Amino acid sequence: MNSLDEYLIEAERNHGHMCAGQVLGVRMAMLGCQLIGLEEPKVGKRLIVYVEIDRCAADAINTVTGCRLGKRTLKFRDFGKLAATFLNTESGAAIRVIALEAARELAKIHFGHLATKKEQQLAAYKSLADDQLFHVQSVKVTLPEADLPGHPKSRVACEACGEGINDSREIYREGLTLCRGCAGERYYELV
Ligand SMILES: [Zn+2]
Ligand SMILES: [Zn+2]
Repeated sequence: MNSLDEYLIEAERNHGHMCAGQVLGVRMAMLGCQLIGLEEPKVGKRLIVYVEIDRCAADAINTVTGCRLGKRTLKFRDFGKLAATFLNTESGAAIRVIALEAARELAKIHFGHLATKKEQQLAAYKSLADDQLFHVQSVKVTLPEADLPGHPKSRVACEACGEGINDSREIYREGLTLCRGCAGERYYELV
């Protein structure tokens, strides 16, 4: 595993700017990987990360772990929480790391002498102890076959729109095989 400073240089390049989310995300990923026994997160194919927010920290987690949506090693769960779960698929060990609300307050208390909130948070998140920044839970994650990396296990066509559906994401309703859009989960309207 690289050092925090090394990852932060890489994170800034990957994300486009330096921000509190990069520091928290890098530290969250370093801690999560250590706790599931992966000292070299990018080596091998044992790591799956579930990220619960689509903000800055998600990019930092990608920087440290190399996990990506396109490789099916990064799973996005839209919970709006600065939290992520790190799963070692070989051992089954899984750790959920949650950023503590109290860390914002600690940044103000310990680094209030710095001019801006951003500087206070950057300094605090680089230097506070893991247990001041994060809460850690041991969890169990069941990874369905259809969520595994590798070639798609199945591909069918929606009987309403004709579009192809990979990986068992289809829904069966009243004798029809439907995509999730046609089954009512459409996020767009045709114009
Ligand atoms: Zn950012
Ligand atoms: Zn459809």
